[in-house]
Amino acid sequence: MEVEKKISDGYPWGHERRFNAFADNFRKIHGMRMQKVSIDAGFSCPNRDGSKGTGGCTYCNNKAFNPSYCLPSKSVSLQIEEGIEFHKKRYRKSGSYLAYFQAYSNTYGSVDKLADLYNEALSHNEIKGLVIGTRPDCVNDEILDFLKDLSERCILLLDFGIESCYDKTLVRINRGHSFRDAVDALEASAKRGIDTGAHFIFGLPGETRQEMLKESEIISGLPLQRVKFHQLQIIRGTAMEQDFYNNPADFEIFTWNDYLDFIIKFIERLNPNIVIERFTGEAPPRFLTGEIWGRKRTDQIIGLIEKRLGELDTWQGRLYK
Ligand code: SF4
Repeated sequence: MEVEKKISDGYPWGHERRFNAFADNFRKIHGMRMQKVSIDAGFSCPNRDGSKGTGGCTYCNNKAFNPSYCLPSKSVSLQIEEGIEFHKKRYRKSGSYLAYFQAYSNTYGSVDKLADLYNEALSHNEIKGLVIGTRPDCVNDEILDFLKDLSERCILLLDFGIESCYDKTLVRINRGHSFRDAVDALEASAKRGIDTGAHFIFGLPGETRQEMLKESEIISGLPLQRVKFHQLQIIRGTAMEQDFYNNPADFEIFTWNDYLDFIIKFIERLNPNIVIERFTGEAPPRFLTGEIWGRKRTDQIIGLIEKRLGELDTWQGRLYK
């Protein structure tokens, strides 16, 4: 029988929202609101440059996610200047900034190269810290020791793309690493006390909804602080688009209503100590093929998820065992 955790003294994350929200958690820990300024520092990935494979992950087109100011031909400093300018025009309450090394695998290089790039970002007077997106197979002891030292002098969030807990899926999407590699990287980061997050995609080919839901148990047991979830978006011109047209029966593509039901069930089963940073991805419609959810922005989506959690009187971790 499911044991429901009744919340009589408030939620374990200490605020009234029905999930352990990143923005609130960040404010509680660091005492400020922050914006991320994306940077493309010209890295590659081992499954692109031939060291492990070519072509990259089958769903990948970084252009679909990179802001227009983000070009590797520009220095890190210039991308930060332009990114801050962009945010100041767009949002009145911009707060502080983190430099987000976002495109490709941002620890895929020597420690000297990483130190140069990260220090250039940190030398900007409005940058309070770093967010570093990478792959589980692009860290080693030397890099993690360096990141641990860096995390003692600035805010540092390390994000791993893991995408699926199933090796059959990781092979099919040409990730070039196993789930064991992901667990090893998370454990090595946790051992050093680095604030670590992971990214997962729901709807990858060959996975059933039941298998996706089962990932809530697996993820709940991982040594990480934060998660980002995305629904699969099929980006035009990728190998995934071809796979989708060739094998449509292998894809459980979510409509918005399906996804809303699924994500509620998922977070009810997710460890309440894990902070949720995103529920969905948001590539511009011109890049997409297949199911498109209309023009829902991230803040609207969060609002709709919170509304449904309220209607069902449920919350993150209610069914966590
Ligand atoms: S690791 Fe990331 S950037 Fe590299 S190919 Fe895969 S999705 Fe693209």
